[in-house]
Amino acid sequence: MTPRAWALVTFTVLVVAVVVAAAVLVPWQRPPVPRADQLAALRELPVDQVERGRALRAALRPGRYGAMLAGLLVALLLGFTPVGARLVEVAGRPFGGHWAAQALLGGLLVVFLADLLTLPFAAWRHRILTEHGLATQGWAGWGLDLVRSYAVGAVIATVALLGFYTVVRLAPRWWWALAAAGAAALVVLLSFVLPVLVEPVFNKFTPMPDGPVRTQLLELAERDGVPVRDVLVADASRRTRAVNAYVSGFGPTRRIVVYDNLLLEAPPAELAAVVAHELGHARARDVLTGTGLGALGAAATVVGLYLLGSWRPVLRAAGVADIAEPRAIALLLAVVTLVGLVATPAQALVSRRIEARADAYALALHGDPAAYAAVHRRLSAINLADPDPPRWEYLYSATHPSTVERIAAARRYADRAGR
Ligand SMILES: [Zn+2]
Repeated sequence: MTPRAWALVTFTVLVVAVVVAAAVLVPWQRPPVPRADQLAALRELPVDQVERGRALRAALRPGRYGAMLAGLLVALLLGFTPVGARLVEVAGRPFGGHWAAQALLGGLLVVFLADLLTLPFAAWRHRILTEHGLATQGWAGWGLDLVRSYAVGAVIATVALLGFYTVVRLAPRWWWALAAAGAAALVVLLSFVLPVLVEPVFNKFTPMPDGPVRTQLLELAERDGVPVRDVLVADASRRTRAVNAYVSGFGPTRRIVVYDNLLLEAPPAELAAVVAHELGHARARDVLTGTGLGALGAAATVVGLYLLGSWRPVLRAAGVADIAEPRAIALLLAVVTLVGLVATPAQALVSRRIEARADAYALALHGDPAAYAAVHRRLSAINLADPDPPRWEYLYSATHPSTVERIAAARRYADRAGR
């Protein structure tokens, strides 16, 4: 069998593995909350709250989709015309066109060009968030955050680019197998180190101060046997008024994080409801599920890119002879951008299912549906969320059930439990 035939088999196996893993690990069986219940929940929300949330989301929408479109156009222009290949050549020229210089400098140039061109959209977004009182950061702090995220992106891109093109040189016929394994390993590694290496770049984390709230939350964790060493508080208030909580990492790096402003704004019962949701993620090992699916998807994408490399018209359009040469970086990125846009609704659907399971878990563990509904009313009001976003947008990118879905789910639980 030729390397290409092996790649075709591997690609098929990986795609099947993604589908099977998603079918088995994602909770699909839970019936959705009836629309009538959602509408009832919506009618009970204060009209001005709903309107304020919708006004902000409407104001953000042109920038959001404008940035998406601009990013796509740049990626397509660089990837499917010889422009991207020329840029990589130019970047490598001061170093005599050495492959490593082309791979690293050319790669970073192509990666950041799209970011640079969508910068005006990001600035516009910050202005709107400031006008609506959600952003608490001035332009200097915003700019510093941007530099930090570029720096983090540059470190990850450097590892990926140098690793990839080293593998290509060491194994010209089988690079796709090694690179697929490497991409999967990188996804797992990033998810593992994210809470200890990346998140501290943006926020300071401190253990939740001793007191009745902390005791209650750790008791909640212990009651259900979720091993949680601590609940951390992030100093998110220096950036935003928005409130949130999340769980990240796995194994020794796993942590539950609560925004400091949530601690200030929500009464203890509501805070416990939020933490119970995060415990649900920890208990079901959702970070690991997401990481596993991401790793399989990354590996499949790499093998898919190799297979695409035998499609002559694409190479000709990009002005390259081989998909594995550094000059084809822009082509790789263009394909990855397209795959990302197409995969977004599938990822969002998987995420919503996993979030709904954490909601159900929290209701059962914490057993206070009134507090659960109350905290989601509060989150939606503070975050200026649209409690019932447009259907198309929800289907395309909503990673969480809508506020009205969550409130309605809490009601149903209360009715069934007779509370
Ligand atoms: Zn969640």
